[in-house]
Amino acid sequence: MARRLWQPAWPHREPRELLPIITIMHELSIAQSLLKIVQDESKKHGVTRVTRVCVRIGTLSAIVPEALSFSFEVISKSTVAEGAAFDIEVVPARVRCANCNTDFEVDSSSFLCPKCEGFASEIISGKELEITHIEAE
Ligand SMILES: [Zn+2]
Repeated sequence: MARRLWQPAWPHREPRELLPIITIMHELSIAQSLLKIVQDESKKHGVTRVTRVCVRIGTLSAIVPEALSFSFEVISKSTVAEGAAFDIEVVPARVRCANCNTDFEVDSSSFLCPKCEGFASEIISGKELEITHIEAE
């Protein structure tokens, strides 16, 4: 008989169902930091309505773009950024091989150099999380 090693806090729910909630909590806190920057910049420049926010996020930043966009839309209600377009540029991860110095793009499945199969030692891009552009009226 299979033994259960871990019990969810709510016995009628499987832990798997709780995962999306945990995921969005991560993006929600990032969206809050971004909104704070937008609000501070708006105040600084005397802006009353923000129409577009552009951000760059790297594929290694562990952010789900859809979840971030949704979070921003929700928390920006009744703020200067309500209804603003939220553009996300996804920056692919590039790393450098420790063995032969080749730069190559990676997905999450492999960090091995395509040339010599050495390990990547240095991340060149992919950890970005920044606002690049804010449009306002
Ligand atoms: Zn290499």
